[in-house]
Amino acid sequence: MKLAVIPGDGIGPEVVSAAMRVVEATARRFSIDIEAKYVEAGDAALRKYGRAMPDDAWRVVDSADAVLKGPVGETAYDVTSAIRMKYVLYANIRPAKSLPGVPSVKPIDCVFVRENVEDVYVGAEYKVGDVAIALKVITGQGTRRVARMARRYAEMRRRKVTIVTKSNVLRVVDAFFRDVAKEELKGLEVEEMYVDAAAMELVRNPARFDVVLTTNQYGDILTDLAAQVAGSLGLAPSANIGDSKAMFEPVHGAAFDIAGKGIANPVATILSTALMFEWMGRNDAAAAVRRAVEEALRRGVATPDVGGRSTTEEVGKYIASLVENI
Ligand code: ATP
Repeated sequence: MKLAVIPGDGIGPEVVSAAMRVVEATARRFSIDIEAKYVEAGDAALRKYGRAMPDDAWRVVDSADAVLKGPVGETAYDVTSAIRMKYVLYANIRPAKSLPGVPSVKPIDCVFVRENVEDVYVGAEYKVGDVAIALKVITGQGTRRVARMARRYAEMRRRKVTIVTKSNVLRVVDAFFRDVAKEELKGLEVEEMYVDAAAMELVRNPARFDVVLTTNQYGDILTDLAAQVAGSLGLAPSANIGDSKAMFEPVHGAAFDIAGKGIANPVATILSTALMFEWMGRNDAAAAVRRAVEEALRRGVATPDVGGRSTTEEVGKYIASLVENI
């Protein structure tokens, strides 16, 4: 598999380097062929080349099967959103799971499947005099394909999907998303919930959720909430999946406040590589990465944000050695 690696900005290069140790160890243990090519993209690339996504970066990403990306700073729109849109990475997968040794608000183990290329994020905004308008775009095709992704995850889990919308207010667009999604999810346990109720339930009783299917903007907001319920933004992985390519990245941003100090938590990026192995159909490798992460946390090998005393590099090395040895 050809993998484009974008270290990104801020803590990006540190967490990606730790995650690549784990990818290399996992590839060795499970005999997976991964050819990694590093790509300069983001704020640093903008300063150096005048563009956040130089032609060379596009060339490498174009010819790759998948992308592993660290967080990007101010130029996130030109890198992350541009890649999502160009390759139509329509499903954003964000698991939120309590982990051993990390205090969570309440036990949680769910997967968000967030529509990733439509909704108010299509960028159709206008201002006419004293009125500003943003268009919320939902298509049947876009809803069907993301609902099929939710089905795939539900079938690997407890076969339950919660569709989150605000269809009592947005009675055309949100009701359309809900109805089209329900059609695709026949045969599974499906519940509907309004986004405000879902926010409350995520804090009150997060264990009730298995797979949550929602539109772009609600998903954006709820997944940060869910990540914090699980324990920390530093632990939250994500995948952006399309029909021909996928990109894996931590949910958190570039965290410039702690960059270069060796204290960034690499677990979110490492767990993103588990999503990558799963996407490749290598559930054995994905499970080994997750087991190694959980074991490291159980043994207290962790960065300070989750109460440990290890550096980013130490955590990466430790998890990589566990992948090869447990
Ligand atoms: P963005 O605007 O791109 O989301 P940000 O810097 O405003 O970036 P984040 O980087 O997502 O927001 O995170 C906010 C804070 O959470 C950071 O300033 C940092 O202190 C902490 N944080 C985020 N990620 C990590 C991590 N991997 N390890 C440790 N702390 C983290």
